Amino acid sequence: MGKIIAIANQKGGVGKTTTAINLAASLAALEFKTLLVDADPQANSTSGLGFNPKEIELSIYECMVDNISPAEAIVQTELPNLDLLASHINLVGAEIEMINLENREYKMRESLGEVKDYYDFIIIDCSPSLGLITINSLTAANSVIIPVQCEYFALEGLGKLLNTINIIQSRLNTDLAIEGILLTMYDLRLRLSNQVVNEVTSHFQQLVFDTIIPRNVRLSESPSFGVPVLAQDADSKGALSYLKLAKEIVEKNGLVGA
Ligand code: ADP
Ligand code: MG
Repeated sequence: MGKIIAIANQKGGVGKTTTAINLAASLAALEFKTLLVDADPQANSTSGLGFNPKEIELSIYECMVDNISPAEAIVQTELPNLDLLASHINLVGAEIEMINLENREYKMRESLGEVKDYYDFIIIDCSPSLGLITINSLTAANSVIIPVQCEYFALEGLGKLLNTINIIQSRLNTDLAIEGILLTMYDLRLRLSNQVVNEVTSHFQQLVFDTIIPRNVRLSESPSFGVPVLAQDADSKGALSYLKLAKEIVEKNGLVGA
């Protein structure tokens, strides 16, 4: 049975999409059957894997709003073991369109339930909001990864996110766990980066992943090539750090990768 992990933080630009793409690719490289779900109308995970969002005919939107089976919408990527359930700009309207649906918070869970057994991991890239689609993602998920950028105001908004997670745990998804807080865009040379690492680890302790993602130019370039960094420059610091994160998660979950 697949483990569903949502990558969430309502703050934009903290590394959600970069983490979703590269963690999913790393899990696939470890030979786990992996599905990346792009739950952001901006569709950056979709384009980051080389698909043109404008050409996507069936996306997570149709799965949630029109009850299309995800099996019909999922596409294979160029990487072995990695599939994509794409996003589409239509997803912007989904929150309004879903407002009168019964069980509107459970649409993604119902949908992914149909394919969950086929995968080892399902990674959901959330949008920078705490709206209905993100609530759907967190309701569908077994756990959540919270990327935190090693920058000024790193902790800003984290309280609100943790509060939302608490509400979801008590009302919609009692099993939702925090997989971990992930420090991203770490710059060894900056005192500020080190301050953020110290602050976040002293505050959240064992909730913080041992793996820290460095600021790495390969990670910021790879979306323009339409491939995860692993497929572009496997020896880069960025690729190696996401592989390390994947191994940390695999180990934490008592699994053994290839
Ligand atoms: P989000 O999905 O949270 O909005 P992104 O993953 O899109 O964040 O990252 C925001 C920007 O920062 C993007 O331009 C991305 O390429 C860049 N970026 C993300 N992580 C790194 C990193 N570790 N090193 C360098 N650039 C990064
Ligand atoms: Mg994003």
